[in-house]
Amino acid sequence: MLSYEKMSKDDLLKEISSLEERYSQYKEKNYNLNMSRGKPCKEQLDLSDEMATCLGENDYKDQSGFDCRNYGILDGVPEARALFAEVLATNAKNVIVQGNSSLNLMYDAISRAMHFGVPGSDKPWCKEDKVSFICPVPGYDRHFAVTNEFGIEMINVPMTSQGPDMDKVEDLVANDPSIKGMWCVPVYSNPDGITYSEETCRKLASMKTAAPDFRIMWDNAYCVHPIDSNDSDSVPDMLSLCEECGNANRVFEFASTSKVTWAGAGIACIAASDENISYIKSHITLQTIGPDKINQLRHVKFLKNADGVYEMMKKHAAILRPKFISVLEILKNELSMTDIANWNEPKGGYFISLFVKLGTAKTVVALCKACGVEFTPAGATFPYGKDPEDSNIRIAPSFPPLHELTPAIEILCVSTKLAAARKALGEI
Ligand code: PLP
Repeated sequence: MLSYEKMSKDDLLKEISSLEERYSQYKEKNYNLNMSRGKPCKEQLDLSDEMATCLGENDYKDQSGFDCRNYGILDGVPEARALFAEVLATNAKNVIVQGNSSLNLMYDAISRAMHFGVPGSDKPWCKEDKVSFICPVPGYDRHFAVTNEFGIEMINVPMTSQGPDMDKVEDLVANDPSIKGMWCVPVYSNPDGITYSEETCRKLASMKTAAPDFRIMWDNAYCVHPIDSNDSDSVPDMLSLCEECGNANRVFEFASTSKVTWAGAGIACIAASDENISYIKSHITLQTIGPDKINQLRHVKFLKNADGVYEMMKKHAAILRPKFISVLEILKNELSMTDIANWNEPKGGYFISLFVKLGTAKTVVALCKACGVEFTPAGATFPYGKDPEDSNIRIAPSFPPLHELTPAIEILCVSTKLAAARKALGEI
């Protein structure tokens, strides 16, 4: 095992000079590669092209005969609600289908809670002295941006291989009534690709919370996104689990077809208990007369049912798998014989989470940038953009073609080693 810390100064200087030579060879190629975008590539978007034509000019009625070209149907067409309900293993009556973005629904859920409270609140959250949220880290930067926007204080809790560290979560929520909620990406989490264990889900559903109106933001963005369709992860239906534990109102669940059909023109849903659904509807009725139901109809016509979704996800997996394999191969070849980095080998989702030598992630990302490769800024996977250990880098393999992915990850590995060697020498 190569350890820069254990090397003599001479050997370290030799190692740095050979790494610098490799680095400058890459630099001479004047790359301009972007590895920061966790979005589907063109081939993935092409899989859903039939959606542009699958509705005929007379296909504008939903299954109840409602004319979807018109205003109305606040909670989405019944067949779209049934489709999400089947995928999420819940009841259609507990699902509201809206526009193209689940993030939008999450933002609205927090905004409503701040302005009006939620069932179980004795006042709007914004009237509390302090509101805080538990943020499993590393996590999704946009979750943190939403909570930050509303002045909600964010408390880091580390992820484990089973999900968030539940000893810490249980202790925090039991003793601090200012903790009103928690972000969770339960399947193939962003960025670690970790799926919560059943025990973690059960603890989340049953734990005692000092705040009576505590909410879990259960962002099931990657619930049908394995990279090998023969080996997929799942979690229990959190709505039933919370109900079983006497906390039916605890969870707001979110999902969308952003990474099933078209990321910019999909459909999204919020699922929740009966009481939560009536509360949400009482507010969205003032926000909109109804969502884009024609897009909902064409999604159902195209995907049909949960099996149709799984079939589509096999096609996505076939495109994504070689990219994930290629990244993991390069990381293994370049870094597994050193003690300077570790990474997750996700079975699904959109990201690979790399942990470089403590205190060097910012330097690594800067070295990559100077070599023409852009990664998500170091720190972005933590609340306030601050990774206390300056170690995590999010790799997003989906968008670039393989011939761009390979040099980008090689440059990442050389930069990781260079930064670690310079740190061992005391230069960083
Ligand atoms: N949630 C997570 C965890 C994500 O990673 C993403 C996109 O990367 C989203 C939500 C965005 O979803 P949507 O396109 O439905 O707004």
